[in-house]
Amino acid sequence: LEAVPPAERSAVVDLAAIRHNVRHLAEIARPARLMAVVKADAYGHGALEVARAALEAGAGWLGVAHISEALALRTGGISAPLLAWLHTADSDFAAAVAANIDIGVSGWELEAVVAAARELEVPARVHLKIDTGLGRNGCPEDLWETFVGRALAYQEDGLLRVVGIFSHLAVADEPHRAETDVQLQKFRDAVAVAEDAGVDHEVRHIANTPAVLSRPDSHFDLVRVGLGMYGLSPFAGQSAAELGLRPAMTLKTTIANCKAVPAGQGVSYGLHYQTPEPTTLALVPLGYADGIPRVATGGPVMVDGEVFPVVGRIAMDQMVIDLGRTGIAGTPASFIGKEAILFGGEGAPQVEEWAQAAGSINYEIITRISGRVTRSYV
Ligand code: PLP
Repeated sequence: LEAVPPAERSAVVDLAAIRHNVRHLAEIARPARLMAVVKADAYGHGALEVARAALEAGAGWLGVAHISEALALRTGGISAPLLAWLHTADSDFAAAVAANIDIGVSGWELEAVVAAARELEVPARVHLKIDTGLGRNGCPEDLWETFVGRALAYQEDGLLRVVGIFSHLAVADEPHRAETDVQLQKFRDAVAVAEDAGVDHEVRHIANTPAVLSRPDSHFDLVRVGLGMYGLSPFAGQSAAELGLRPAMTLKTTIANCKAVPAGQGVSYGLHYQTPEPTTLALVPLGYADGIPRVATGGPVMVDGEVFPVVGRIAMDQMVIDLGRTGIAGTPASFIGKEAILFGGEGAPQVEEWAQAAGSINYEIITRISGRVTRSYV
């Protein structure tokens, strides 16, 4: 037996692509500034590395969901303005205030943040969130004026500073839908109420990637960009390349085994795939423990510049591709150790093809790539 390289599982992140995408989106959003959304470990790309690249490329802010994610960035040496917007009763507001982390507040959090500020004798930096129609977080419209009044009273007491007013869009990825117009009008109204009450904010923000690309009237002072920074398109009918974006992640491994099989060979759990004719099967050492959705049978894998489908069920650690369908050059043994690319890079399958195979969206495919896959940066 010849020695072969170990079967590695690797997500290679192109930081030059991240920087390009940040510059490109910042140019579109100008004069609004850009917040790089690096929650969920930067959608699976590595929060610290992406945060540094985004700041280098001109992002002025960073955004995450949880205070714990924000604290990890501060521990990693990031001192840029940083907003966390999703909290639970046990979130560490005191740690956030002490670390100069901006806190998104929708209601009950205001009292918790003020308690932390009182204890530390440091004013908290808050962004007031209004629900303009998404129906998740955000102060309901009918309570907004009261909420703003409470925040202003605390500001007068020196316990907080209202840095921003924000909201989140529900259907910006479908630019023809009128609900975005309604949300933007409600946002403008909420800002007017806050300003009339005396809020002197630094930033108003509502736009995500699709809104940056399709709704200049949503940009206000700051745009919150996730998906586009990772080089992916938020629109069903438009590719990343058409939007001037460069996908940052390549997911690849090496073929772990390869063998010739007769017609009628069942493949993987349940034996749902039977080889229709004699063929060659290759074992790809990535499975649902690595974040590949179990339902994504048919997903594309590129070997030697050719694309082959996953056949049979995707298992915890592995999946099988059928090399026979398009004809292959070389013996089965010669494939062991060869590079297998699931997505990313020149001529390779796109994240969107995996999303389609999984009945999901590109956001989920990249974000789910698990910690078992080694991240590396170029
Ligand atoms: N703002 C908020 C509040 C979010 O939750 C997200 C991500 O879901 C974003 C902005 C970034 O959205 P996108 O990845 O579409 O740019």
